[in-house]
Amino acid sequence: MAKHWTGDTPMCDLCGEWDPKKPFFVDGKTRQGPWAIMCPSCFILHGIGLGKGAGQAYDTTTKQALPHADLAAVKERFEDLRFFIHCKEKNADN
Ligand SMILES: [Zn+2]
Repeated sequence: MAKHWTGDTPMCDLCGEWDPKKPFFVDGKTRQGPWAIMCPSCFILHGIGLGKGAGQAYDTTTKQALPHADLAAVKERFEDLRFFIHCKEKNADN
């Protein structure tokens, strides 16, 4: 897998949207089988995980592949994001 994402920040294959403020994007396998570029929201919903044969996360800003040592940090951000999305959905109901 590429260590550095070349080209522009990609659009999410699943929702077709992209928010450059999101900390990372994932080139990974979906629960449905095919690989896709996923924004964090879609990764939470459809991704099977990170690691060999599952997915690679890339930093949105630097476009560097996030090394496995950083996966815990990614997971932390991922949990923050889950919380963020949860709050956003809650706020949308009001
Ligand atoms: Zn998406």
